[in-house]
Amino acid sequence: MLSNPHCPIIAIEEHYWDPELAGTFTGLEAPKGGEIDKRLYDFADLRIKEMDAAGVDVQVLSHGAPSAQKLPADTAAVMTRAVNDRLAAQIAANPKRFAGFAALPTSDVKGAADEMERAVTRLGFKGVMIHGTANGEYLDDRKFWPIFERAEALDVPIYLHPALPDPRITDIYLKDYVKDFPLVVRPAWGYTIDTATQAIRLVLSGVFEKHPKLKIILGHFGETLPFLLWRIDSSLKRPGQKSLEFRQIFTNNFWLTTSGFFSDPALLCCVMEMGVDRLLFAIDWPFVIDNRPAVEWLSRIPLSGEDKVKIASGNAKRLLKM
Ligand code: MN
Repeated sequence: MLSNPHCPIIAIEEHYWDPELAGTFTGLEAPKGGEIDKRLYDFADLRIKEMDAAGVDVQVLSHGAPSAQKLPADTAAVMTRAVNDRLAAQIAANPKRFAGFAALPTSDVKGAADEMERAVTRLGFKGVMIHGTANGEYLDDRKFWPIFERAEALDVPIYLHPALPDPRITDIYLKDYVKDFPLVVRPAWGYTIDTATQAIRLVLSGVFEKHPKLKIILGHFGETLPFLLWRIDSSLKRPGQKSLEFRQIFTNNFWLTTSGFFSDPALLCCVMEMGVDRLLFAIDWPFVIDNRPAVEWLSRIPLSGEDKVKIASGNAKRLLKM
């Protein structure tokens, strides 16, 4: 029997696959049909059984990468609406155990902003998730800002989730090691490079000055950025540069999750840089295929009971209005 943290547990980066959307994934991202895929398509016995076995009360569901980020502009909005409708129906069938982040058809910017509003106001989604770049473009480009404007107006967070980096980047940085270590372009390093870059670019772009109430969630303890915060902030304050309060923006507009990263030293770094109110529990099931070690870790993290409750569910209830 597990010793859980004696409070509800809400895990907020838990994935599923929609057959139609996952059917559009190609190459390295295509479904492979293994144990992970089996879980991604399941909303019933397997998923609930494994939540119960670990003591996870609620999964906030989101599509797996690259979600809707690679759909062509002319069809993205229509397909994503259907994807979100189907997820909303799964959540409605089991509302005590599931909530969700909507997918967003980013290649159609107005369609994406409108779909966010529809998903939040009509379907009850708690926010949206974006996976990596939008067809190879980073989202800080001004043409994407209507998405951030709408998220601020709706007061819902945007979860910036990794996807496979652009092959030009992985070729230069990592090609020599992909054969022996295929995961080096994924969670071992590639995802981190891409998602941290996207987050830094967003801060540099000035979007948070324009939309000061914009809320961004990063998984994986902030993709290394809390550890680097002092250095980034102090470097960007050296002479000869535009004025930018990197630290202030990062600690005001970003929230972090524990997805796929169950480490006390990393946790304590994030608590020291961001404060405990900014940290939310997530597992990254089923890419992390067993929920139990994550919950066991949560039950023994070196923080007070009160702080543990905040991470386990209190902060999620507040940020996601659950
Ligand atoms: Mn994930």
